[in-house]
Amino acid sequence: MTAVSKVAIAGSGAAALAAAIPLAEAGVAVDVFELKTETSTLGSGITLQGNALRALHRLGVWDAVQKRGYTFEGLTLRAPGPGAPVIAELPEIKTGGADFPACMGMYRPDLARILVDRALEVGVRIHYGSKVTGVRQTDTGVLVDVGGAPVGEFDLLIGADGLHSTVRHLIGIETKPEPTGMGIWRAFVRRPAEVTQSQLYYGGPMYIAGYTPTGEDTCYAFLVEDAQDRFDVPTEDAVELMRAASAAYGGPWEEIRASLGADSRVNYTWFTSHLVEGAWNRGRTVVIGDAAHSCPPTVAQGAAQALEDGTVLAELLLAADAVDEGLWAEFHARRVPRASAVVEASVQLGKWQLEHNRDADAAGLIFGISQQMAVPA
Ligand SMILES: Cc1cc2nc3c(=O)[nH]c(=O)nc-3n(C[C@H](O)[C@H](O)[C@H](O)COP(=O)(O)OP(=O)(O)OC[C@H]3O[C@@H](n4cnc5c(N)ncnc54)[C@H](O)[C@@H]3O)c2cc1C
Repeated sequence: MTAVSKVAIAGSGAAALAAAIPLAEAGVAVDVFELKTETSTLGSGITLQGNALRALHRLGVWDAVQKRGYTFEGLTLRAPGPGAPVIAELPEIKTGGADFPACMGMYRPDLARILVDRALEVGVRIHYGSKVTGVRQTDTGVLVDVGGAPVGEFDLLIGADGLHSTVRHLIGIETKPEPTGMGIWRAFVRRPAEVTQSQLYYGGPMYIAGYTPTGEDTCYAFLVEDAQDRFDVPTEDAVELMRAASAAYGGPWEEIRASLGADSRVNYTWFTSHLVEGAWNRGRTVVIGDAAHSCPPTVAQGAAQALEDGTVLAELLLAADAVDEGLWAEFHARRVPRASAVVEASVQLGKWQLEHNRDADAAGLIFGISQQMAVPA
């Protein structure tokens, strides 16, 4: 007997499908309700650390992911200026263990498609255009409303509905993401031949200017600045803004600047942080992934934590025979310290940048987090 036989999930991102896939593989009926009308086909790149790759292997998609992504080891730090001098070549800890590369860059919509295809293959039912709007706990389960109408009773509702989670609000958790003061421009562009791993530039007009390869021909480039109201900037102006803001950076940035255009899917967003203190569940409803925690991507661990939340929750649900306090105690013991460490370190790194603190031991903090993540979730 597993603890659940019928599960509803709000959202169809990494956290949602990381829980859905193992549950469905084990024969649990899983209904995913996604407010968007289809899987996103637009987006930028993402950096997946080894521990994210280990979770993707657990989900049965490692081969597919490997085919689409660009694996690499190490991180290059460079300085602004025409020659973009290399300051350091940092080795990276293999947070997924010896069997996985330290890092992979990937086009986000490719990752989303691979996870959705796997979920459908193992029998997950995905309902698009379906916003979860209501939750009511009964003695034996949880009644879920979608689009204002009841859709049935489930043994569990997993709120994997992202930063602005409706489920979090519905179960009375008031913690929510707060801006950290930084904004990021991202663009999806042609990969300069010499870009074979992530490279970050510190100093100059941006807090960080960098890029990460996502495939043989592609990479994503990003510029981090003070948060500003840039959300409605038209595409042409956004391209010009990125060109101007990156002008202080040489080396591969020259080629990236030249390839920026209307088709670069330039995107602007703010960094946020939050962490639900204490329990992430209220009865038979639980929040995971960005619904439970968020942070600036300074150590690129957000999606990794979302994937681990999902796989660990599914593992515990399949091993237990009841959804009870013991199950939640174990879930929180495995997830809260790990996610908290990532949020704290990521926020600290951003703060040091905002303060222009050049004496802080950023490398030590990043190394410490990587060592923690190398221990399986
Ligand atoms: C600028 C930036 C860069 C980042 N870079 C990285 C990186 O390089 N590496 C990394 O690991 N992480 C990175 N992250 C973090 C990472 O993107 C997130 O942590 C991760 O995508 C969270 O996944 P999720 O499944 O929890 O949420 P999401 O991917 O946001 O999925 C939530 C889903 O729920 C749906 N939804 C919302 N409300 C409802 C509702 N009421 N009913 C039904 N569906 C609903 C949404 O449409 C969405 O599809 C970055 C984040 C930012 C902001």
